[in-house]
Amino acid sequence: MVKKKFNLLSSEPTKVKIGYRDIAIEWVGPDFKTDQLTDNYGEYRAREGKILIQDTLCGQEKVNVFLHECMHAIVYGSGLNQANGPLKEDDAEEIAVNQITNYLVGMLRDNPYLFDFIKKNIEKDL
Ligand SMILES: [Zn+2]
Repeated sequence: MVKKKFNLLSSEPTKVKIGYRDIAIEWVGPDFKTDQLTDNYGEYRAREGKILIQDTLCGQEKVNVFLHECMHAIVYGSGLNQANGPLKEDDAEEIAVNQITNYLVGMLRDNPYLFDFIKKNIEKDL
């Protein structure tokens, strides 16, 4: 069975490729019994290859949390949080991921032509 990249009803992505890894994305509600997403909007689970995101967020928060958790996956996949890496401390990783994501989302929102520019040119290598 071919897994869909998007939930067609909501246009929410259900997987994303980051480096060598296919990451599953689950849009879920907070669960107080398991403590799942009760104190944050999203979570990257490196060992499971999974990102959880609260399903009731507004569009702006969905985008921000999605990219934020993808940044954590990039940090993990690139080894930036390994021993002797610049983001080895959890606080350092969180600050870097949060600030870069917030500015990236702001930049994309404030310059909507960038989506077309990127889409038009990203596969051109000549
Ligand atoms: Zn984070």
